[in-house]
Amino acid sequence: MADYETIKAELDGIAVEDNPRLVQAKSRDFYWYSPVLKAQLDNVTGDLLVSPKNEAEVIKVLKTAFAHGVPVTPRGAGTGNYGQAMPLSGGIVLDMSKMDEVKEIAPGRVVCGPGIVIAKLDKITKEHSGQELRFHPSTAQTATIGGFIAGGSGGVGSVHWGGLRDLGNILRLRIVTMEAEPRVIELSTWDLQKVSHAYGTNGIITEVEMPLTTAHDWVDVIVGHETFMDAVVFSDKLARSNGILLKEVAPIAAPIPFDFFTRHKPWLKEGEAVTVLMVAPHSMSAMLALAERMKGEVRFRSDEVESMKGIPHVYELAWNHTTLRALKFDSSFTYLQTQYPGPNHVELVRKTTEMFPGEIFGHLEFLRFDGQVQCSGLPLIRYTTEERLDEIILLHEENGCRVFNPHRYTLEEGGMKQTDQVQLAFKKETDPEGLLNPGKMIAWDNPDFDFNSGQNYLFPGLQAFA
Ligand code: FAD
Repeated sequence: MADYETIKAELDGIAVEDNPRLVQAKSRDFYWYSPVLKAQLDNVTGDLLVSPKNEAEVIKVLKTAFAHGVPVTPRGAGTGNYGQAMPLSGGIVLDMSKMDEVKEIAPGRVVCGPGIVIAKLDKITKEHSGQELRFHPSTAQTATIGGFIAGGSGGVGSVHWGGLRDLGNILRLRIVTMEAEPRVIELSTWDLQKVSHAYGTNGIITEVEMPLTTAHDWVDVIVGHETFMDAVVFSDKLARSNGILLKEVAPIAAPIPFDFFTRHKPWLKEGEAVTVLMVAPHSMSAMLALAERMKGEVRFRSDEVESMKGIPHVYELAWNHTTLRALKFDSSFTYLQTQYPGPNHVELVRKTTEMFPGEIFGHLEFLRFDGQVQCSGLPLIRYTTEERLDEIILLHEENGCRVFNPHRYTLEEGGMKQTDQVQLAFKKETDPEGLLNPGKMIAWDNPDFDFNSGQNYLFPGLQAFA
């Protein structure tokens, strides 16, 4: 056991907390979404919570931790779903939320600390110059921008802009390395791929520069449909309509909307599937014309309700908020992350939807992937056993649908991030003792790891770019 009294003394002047209950509370994220991860990670806790205010304090913490051989696991707001921010080997939990300064806003870009809450950042850039982030996770009201870059993938806005994996969707990152004398490294273009969605295993992000786009007063819309496939076909047609500006397109099957979207329930119809949309005001008439032609009935629009008080943004019905709303009612639900490669994505959805009646309830997110509109899924699943979950994954894969397994806490098994020699070499350079968020990268722990053992990955390996 490390000598935490000495460490605390050496960190004098930096905010430190060692109350075990408080440290444990900050050692958790939304891992409990997965019954598999819940069983594995329930007892995980750090030993010390440290909250640096600036980069100089981050450097001091890493230098001290390195000298004592203590692991450091960074944390934004702890809204990740795969135990990303959970310190598997104990040690220091590095709370980055105090580094929330906005440093510069210019046309098309913003520079800020990693700990700023995303919705706050959007509010500031909108007020400053009518700009907003291109996309954000549905947890924007609580999640930090640094946590999103290190642990997320895409979200509200990805129907137009794609995801974090796409070149140009992050402009620059500044990271601090975990060495005897920590260094500051600036990353841009291809090198950003080393750190994005790497769970903080190869550096602590201390500054980010993100691209901005024109902000709009997005209209929240819910369209009702007779069947889930009607919603899917409408969503596909809408998302591929070049002239209609959208920020969110999510078809969701019955009974999810009526049963679980409590605040919107007065507007919804029992037994109906819906499409959840965010539409630019000037695109509303075009969207409505398409909805009418495709027999969709507008059930809710935020620009026509008397008051939005107490009604959440529709993006908080989408992405992993759909799962959260179902879990609040029925903890036997779990979910998968699937991808239906285009151009046959609609047919793949139809096929897999028909395969699991009563066991899987459809929820898709339309997004731009490698330049094409297609869809990913966050289907709700009635959980029975881990074996059945694995079987469902296999059946999806056999039918041409990729699965990013949200029931695994390592980068590789989650299927989002492909590690390879370049990624490994970068970690050796930035974290030679393997003290940053240990246990999350199989390639680090297992020198015989076969980089090609996995399937496809959302964030591809770096070898291709080297
Ligand atoms: P945390 O959970 O605290 O951390 C995430 C990872 O980043 C961890 O590995 C952590 O160690 C690392 N990290 C944090 N800060 C730093 C730093 N400064 N330097 C280096 N590493 C760091 N994700 C999406 O991509 N899209 C969605 O739409 C989405 N919707 C969600 C909905 C719900 C209801 C929930 C519970 C989760 C959702 N998520 C989504 C997952 C998660 O909310 C987001 O990825 C979010 O952006 C994570 O931010 P955070 O500040 O909470 O990060």
